[in-house]
Amino acid sequence: MVTDLSRLALNTASLGHNLDGHGQGWPVERVIDGCAARGYGGIVFWRRELGDRPDVIGDRVRAAGLQVVGLCRTPFLVGPDAPASMDETRAAIDTAAALGAPVLTIVVGGVEPGLKGIGTSLDRLADRVARAAEIAAATDVRLALEPLHPVYAGNRSCLVSLGDALEVCDRVGADNVGVAVDVYHTWWDRSLPEMMARAGPDRLLGVHLCDWLADTQDVLLDRGMMGDGVADIAGLCRDADAAGYTGAHEVEIFSARTWWRKDPGEVLDTIAARYSDICQPS
Ligand code: ZN
Repeated sequence: MVTDLSRLALNTASLGHNLDGHGQGWPVERVIDGCAARGYGGIVFWRRELGDRPDVIGDRVRAAGLQVVGLCRTPFLVGPDAPASMDETRAAIDTAAALGAPVLTIVVGGVEPGLKGIGTSLDRLADRVARAAEIAAATDVRLALEPLHPVYAGNRSCLVSLGDALEVCDRVGADNVGVAVDVYHTWWDRSLPEMMARAGPDRLLGVHLCDWLADTQDVLLDRGMMGDGVADIAGLCRDADAAGYTGAHEVEIFSARTWWRKDPGEVLDTIAARYSDICQPS
């Protein structure tokens, strides 16, 4: 039993805070205190929680002895739901900078309207990531491309593998652009250890944890608590460390059916216990 939780970070999505009508409505300050009391090392927020006071909330986190690990996320950069301009991306970068978040996650968006397959959409994505990297270069914020499970390729992420994410990084060629690896999206990919090694410590900017339930009911909102599914979470953490990753393990559980219905204190306790039992690289 490992009790050092200094690498454990809560992604507030695990408490349902990122969607209307979900979660138990704890204010941000209570979430911060709840994580600090349990010895968590950090927190990852969603933009909607921060309002017009990201700087105040960032300071509140640090005063509680925690790190702001990251911010979720930019708007889509490609696909049917991508905004026409980069204005909102710029605003997300500015919010991350004000919060003091070292990493801003990018969920890239789906296949561009009118196109078939993912290749040309990835070409356009590389152009837009390059523009975002130019904007972010004025700040200390780095951008993490997060490949999603292929089931989302149509409308949420034409970026579906770590290999493709690294190819986009290579094409952009900016030292403030890297990748995030999420158990939920990548647990099935047997090339993951090799790809994380290729990413290396300079580009591996985040590791997100949850579990893949064998009998998943909803691919968006039925993620499992670590230990309840079939993903090799400790193995992924071990492979990430072997690739040079030294950052946080961010727990991100979208669970409308189960965990979002529970008391947030119980969820925080369970995350800490499961992380200690199941997730630590040996
Ligand atoms: Zn994630």
